[in-house]
Amino acid sequence: MTGSRGSYYLALKQIAKAANSSLSLRKIFNSVAKSTAKALQANGCRILLLDPPKKYLITMGSHGLSDLYLRKGPLDAQKSLPEILDGEVVIIADATKDKRVQHPEIAQAQGVSSILGFPVLEKEETVGEIRVYTREPHQFSEGDTSFLTSVANICAVLFEKAELHQFLAQNHEASKRQARADQAPQLPTTSLRPSEFAHPSEDDFARLLDFYRIEWLYEPRAFPLRWNGNDIAEMFTPDFYLPELDLYIELTTLKQDLITAKNRKLRRLRELYPEINIKLLTKNDFIRLLAKYGYGPLGEAKIEGVSRILYSHAQIQRRVRALARRISRDYAGQRLVIVGILKGVICFMADLMQHISLPVTLDLMAVSPYESDGEVVKITRDLDSSITGQHVLMIEDIVDTGMTLNYILSHLSAHNPASLRVCTLLDKRARRLVNVSLDYIGFEIPDEFVVGYGLDYKGEYRNLPFIAILRPEVTKEDDAEAQPGPSDAQH
Ligand code: 5GP
Repeated sequence: MTGSRGSYYLALKQIAKAANSSLSLRKIFNSVAKSTAKALQANGCRILLLDPPKKYLITMGSHGLSDLYLRKGPLDAQKSLPEILDGEVVIIADATKDKRVQHPEIAQAQGVSSILGFPVLEKEETVGEIRVYTREPHQFSEGDTSFLTSVANICAVLFEKAELHQFLAQNHEASKRQARADQAPQLPTTSLRPSEFAHPSEDDFARLLDFYRIEWLYEPRAFPLRWNGNDIAEMFTPDFYLPELDLYIELTTLKQDLITAKNRKLRRLRELYPEINIKLLTKNDFIRLLAKYGYGPLGEAKIEGVSRILYSHAQIQRRVRALARRISRDYAGQRLVIVGILKGVICFMADLMQHISLPVTLDLMAVSPYESDGEVVKITRDLDSSITGQHVLMIEDIVDTGMTLNYILSHLSAHNPASLRVCTLLDKRARRLVNVSLDYIGFEIPDEFVVGYGLDYKGEYRNLPFIAILRPEVTKEDDAEAQPGPSDAQH
């Protein structure tokens, strides 16, 4: 697989023309994939976009690949050639044997022999990939690399455009919904929404998932169920895949003949793919299933007062792991004392420390709420051990005005630690009164009162597995008197 100067030039001319055309984004990316494959004399090409949490790769356009290959399942960005995420070019000589290939059996059926993975970078960060497929083992020339670099640059610009499109589409949807007075405002979705659902119930279902911030992929994988010789005679494509629950969902209405036909397909699917977790659900079944996880109307006691979910359990866990990795890297070779302030920090601290790969000791402090006697915060429980000469990392649940943290930091610095840094899960920057420097931040949040994942309102809600915004009515009484703050004895 090697192109010539002439073929690169022609391909770049076509790609630039497509990129600046009024075609739909899907068609533009298909055209980019086609021109790229042709210039490199490859058999197939696809352009993949990395979703914002960097978990999945979504096909934006392709050329020369079968439907089966394209729908072989959600591509887990961390598992499928993860080196590309670090900006590396990856060459797989034999896709049927290489362990880095997620679905080798389908690569074999497709006749893919070699794969070339090329990062699409935006300000030095990987935002997507170009993958080139050949049936023969390939030779990769310098000309190919510089050609792909140009294609990747154009793709990066197109991705920006794609995000803009999605944003505009969402805003349009949201304003349409808001126009219906009785509807709650639409949340920005965490999942990539197809331009059209096959059935309105799927749209409803997707909205329910969005409300609970449960990630979903629509029709991500087609499962062959029956063959005629080498040809696939029957396929089944479940409606949704929920990565957090590792669960495929097929929605159904209550029509008995449809249920029977779908049940037959599901039985066959389970026989052929026993590792696949799939459920046939009506919408009510699904609401019941959510209740099992503490969500939804049946879990009402738990979410009474919550207006919307800001971060799901899975999103929090992912962010916490990323913070722990950075902390472990920054303090490599050192011992660390982590100090938390009771009680709001308990969930965050417990999760974070399990992912820090350093020798760690733990200490806890407690402070009383604001007093009007001139002193802003009163320490009601001090450190158990001396921190003099130690590397100390303060762990906070949320930094709001910054007064608590500022007070605690000056208290801790007086003990002369070797270093003193701060890691907070939430940063409510809009309400900052005291300038405190934060070294590690989980999420920057809007100026709203949040609960869950350790954070309380009047002692409750700490056990919610997600972070949610409380309905303004709940805090209204307090608002009349002062800014909301936990009225529990300890934060
Ligand atoms: P600061 O001193 O930065 O204003 O606030 C620190 C403390 O106020 C936090 O540790 C937390 O206990 C409480 N707090 C501030 N904002 C919120 C919020 O949105 N939700 C909850 N539950 N507590 C908050």
